[in-house]
Amino acid sequence: MGDKRSAFQSFKRVVVKVGTSSVAYDTGKPNLYRIESLVRQISDIHNLGKEVILVTSGAIGTGAGKLGLPGRPKTIPEKQAAAAVGQGVLMHIYEKIFAEYGVTVGQVLLTREDFADRRRFLNARNAMHALLQYGVIPIINENDTVAVDEIKLGDNDNLSALVASLIDAEMLILLSDIDGLFTADPRKNPDACLIKEVREITPEIEALAGGSGRLGTGGMTTKLQAAKIAMHSGVVTVLANLKEKDVVRNILSGEPAGTVFWPCANKMDNKKRWIAFNSSVCGRLHVDEGAARALLKNGKSLLPSGITRVEGNFEMGNTVSIADPDGREIAKGIVYYSSVEINLIKGEQSRDIPRIIGHKDYDEVVHRNNLVLEL
Ligand code: GLU
Repeated sequence: MGDKRSAFQSFKRVVVKVGTSSVAYDTGKPNLYRIESLVRQISDIHNLGKEVILVTSGAIGTGAGKLGLPGRPKTIPEKQAAAAVGQGVLMHIYEKIFAEYGVTVGQVLLTREDFADRRRFLNARNAMHALLQYGVIPIINENDTVAVDEIKLGDNDNLSALVASLIDAEMLILLSDIDGLFTADPRKNPDACLIKEVREITPEIEALAGGSGRLGTGGMTTKLQAAKIAMHSGVVTVLANLKEKDVVRNILSGEPAGTVFWPCANKMDNKKRWIAFNSSVCGRLHVDEGAARALLKNGKSLLPSGITRVEGNFEMGNTVSIADPDGREIAKGIVYYSSVEINLIKGEQSRDIPRIIGHKDYDEVVHRNNLVLEL
């Protein structure tokens, strides 16, 4: 892919994410005007032959409105109840308006576990592909009614990027009530300028992220996290304002709108993306200076000899983080041995593994192919 916006015209698969502030008023009542505009644009690009996946927030916000709550609910049961009510309200509206344009939609509610468990991850992907093959527009949200905080992704920016990566979309469009990424908060600083393109999420860019609105959860921080996932997955991200007329259509025509985050030159393969962004970390391996250098500088695997300490209880096949002697996380990877076994072989040579634990399937504790360096 070139790095010209004109390339966007040929994109076939697009994920569009819309935030709570775009689909609901501050009172929690649905913003029918905006939803109508969004649905018309998506139906139109669908008619153009593109596959579109809509990730929508607003279940908790509209549920709170319907239940007459004074703001965003605070406790878990309140959020779950609001989501149960609001998700139905949202789907009813989407279904009705999409039907006016002859488009069939299907609701998909996901949780973190659907991404973290590799089998469920592959199942979710198959389900999504089947829907797209039927010409259906999947409408996705987090399953807020069953997902309690510990197992929650928590924000739909990250969710939409994981979805884009899951189904190998070419583009992720994040729509909210702000025109893009600015050099300062445009609501507070009149001199703030729109940044039209980002090629790398540097600490300076991260420092530009501010807070979030009244009913939604996402601010710029989660949008940058989402862009980072997308950039490593070969997905172009555009951050734009749903209030701008025909914004989705303009973006896909290659016209200047919002901020574009270009994908990195070296896209991670599927498995590494899964390790980096989806898998749950079950423990931690501390390594010595030499091993840290071998991983960071020389592209090597992690051998038992470099491991100094094991944290947590985990099985072979789980994902762990790897920390250098200063305790800094330097990588994540899938282990070939359990925590009990690694405790016995740490600091030892690979040739001694069978003598110590009675078997040896691999020389490495974490093979290079199953390891990603901290991004
Ligand atoms: N899943 C939440 C909802 O539908 C939204 C999360 C977010 O604001 O990103 O209310």
